[in-house]
Amino acid sequence: MQVYVDGAFVPAEEARISVFDHGFLYGDGVFEGIRVYDGNIFRLPQHLQRLYDSAQCLLLRIPLPQDELRDAIVETVTRRGLPNQYVRVVVSRGAGDLGLNPRLCPQPSIIIIADTIALYPSHFYTEGLELVTVATRRTPTWALDPRIKSLNYLNNILAKIEAQQAGVLEAVMLNSEGYLAECTADNLFFVRHGQLYTPSTAAGALQGITRDGVLDIAQALGVPTAEGLFTRYDLYTADECFMTGTGAEIVPVVRIDGRTIGTGQPGPLTARLRQGFEHLCRHDGVQIATYTPDGALA
Ligand code: PMP
Repeated sequence: MQVYVDGAFVPAEEARISVFDHGFLYGDGVFEGIRVYDGNIFRLPQHLQRLYDSAQCLLLRIPLPQDELRDAIVETVTRRGLPNQYVRVVVSRGAGDLGLNPRLCPQPSIIIIADTIALYPSHFYTEGLELVTVATRRTPTWALDPRIKSLNYLNNILAKIEAQQAGVLEAVMLNSEGYLAECTADNLFFVRHGQLYTPSTAAGALQGITRDGVLDIAQALGVPTAEGLFTRYDLYTADECFMTGTGAEIVPVVRIDGRTIGTGQPGPLTARLRQGFEHLCRHDGVQIATYTPDGALA
């Protein structure tokens, strides 16, 4: 496996960044996680837009124009050759001195890794996951806008540790006012009386690419959707609940803070949306190769 590092492809075990890179020293950088489904790089333009928007907010100059970075991603995915992949694109501030000053980091670095990922064992997709609300709050939007997808995940990692300490795999994170924000690396949805709800970005949610895709599918199915401010009451009384993210995809949630959600089984709208997503993720994006059902190049 080869990794793209600043314009060159190197064997994974030889891929290196400087210990003075501010991505490493301070979490100063941005990233994207992107999936490839049957040779289709799902919503690549949207991922690129979010990456460049995040970098713009950090006054971080991505050393390639968008079309050249897109070509580099396509080449990395093509070299990896698998029909289904998970791609990590990282742009770090680059090497500087031991101080914080980003102006002393003259050359940002671009790293692209194309691999595979499985965040949860498959039975959680059929049986559903349990969540707990944790004490760690999402960094307030007015302090750090959650739409910036930066390398700094400590807030989310603290929440993840809390969930694990409580014996479950994922956490519901509230914002500083107690409204629902998201999970530690996934967006949160719930269904009530046939309507689909998700916390707004103003409430502390990342504008997830999967989230946007699910909202598009719901709208195409004629399911009313709403983004807004919600509390745990809304989760506890929901008919269905699920999380979305590039790595996790769509994971049904059946228990939250000891309350059973709906029937305690993944719900019917969740199943329809997962079905719609199966189609969307193979047709919306940049198709770089086609594969036969057994995974060979067509
Ligand atoms: N929230 C956070 C904090 C994330 O890091 C992610 C990405 N893993 C998501 C939500 C989901 O976003 P996406 O669907 O774009 O992967």
